[in-house]
Amino acid sequence: MKIIEILKNHKMSLSFEVFPPKKETSFESVKQATEKIAGYHPSFMSVTYGAGGGTSRYTLDIAKNIMDSYGVPTLAHLTCVSSSKETVIHQINAMKEAGITNVMALRGDLTPELEKGDRSKWDYQYAIQLINELKNSSNDFCIGAACYPEIHPESPNQKEDIIHIKEKTDAGAVFLTTQMIFDNNLFFNFLYKLREAGVTVPVIPGIMPITNANQVERAIKLSGSFMPQRFKSIVDYFGQDPDSMKQAGIAYATDQIIDLYANGITNVHVYSMNKPDVAKAIMDNLSQILGKDFNR
Ligand code: FAD
Repeated sequence: MKIIEILKNHKMSLSFEVFPPKKETSFESVKQATEKIAGYHPSFMSVTYGAGGGTSRYTLDIAKNIMDSYGVPTLAHLTCVSSSKETVIHQINAMKEAGITNVMALRGDLTPELEKGDRSKWDYQYAIQLINELKNSSNDFCIGAACYPEIHPESPNQKEDIIHIKEKTDAGAVFLTTQMIFDNNLFFNFLYKLREAGVTVPVIPGIMPITNANQVERAIKLSGSFMPQRFKSIVDYFGQDPDSMKQAGIAYATDQIIDLYANGITNVHVYSMNKPDVAKAIMDNLSQILGKDFNR
């Protein structure tokens, strides 16, 4: 099933993100974790892709397994930074062969090593070029792209960032997923600006349940996301007790999701980080809400 069909049916939906193993020895344990999450039947699952091809070969294996064994629609991520055209075309063909029709088209992060390289030699500079490549290859792909309520770190300002987001949707991205947010107001303000700029596609907010205090620093470093005082207090108060922190982190994420639904956002994406227990707890917390259509 195409993700866009799920996003347009007005029912409250929840999707989970998982990441592929970094090495072969952890393939089985990652596969089992992703299968467990698939067993809770989220509306779809996305599988990330290692920038520079690090874990690329497992993205399709994991995505295909979830789709074929559990009937859960999957969204395979694909990055293009530093990849040759040949590699990207190869990956696109592998997706077609695996029956994957939903693709998250990303540039990928610039590692310090890549930053030092000569960008003029790259076949792809930006995600929009990958979107064009996917469109050239087949009209059947349902393409998603990334966006940043708190501005992409390389962008000089939000206005320019939104211009490039619109270029991605004009090129063929039919939905957007946001970087993780811990303050819903940032999402609502951003959505308003996107609509004002003429971006009309569904925008899925990304929510990261923080379940241990160590995760906080890493999450902020990776995403640059703003941590509201309300959340900082939770980490300060419960952070030293792992079970309490986990429960409080899941409650905070659930609260954010309910607030998004209550304000008319029907689709939320959870960065579930290969943690079936966290995915299950959130699904359980929303069991009376998911699948219902409050627009009827
Ligand atoms: P782009 O859309 O190309 O934007 C990158 C920067 O370039 C932005 O500042 C933008 O404003 C600017 N820009 C875009 N077009 C132009 C132009 N024509 N001229 C000048 N400037 C331009 N990374 C992974 O490695 N693997 C993953 O699986 C993965 N999944 C992700 C999922 C989501 C939902 C999100 C939000 C991020 C994900 N990332 C992933 C991280 C992502 O690769 C990085 O954030 C990366 O730095 C930017 O990717 P992008 O696709 O948004 O790039």
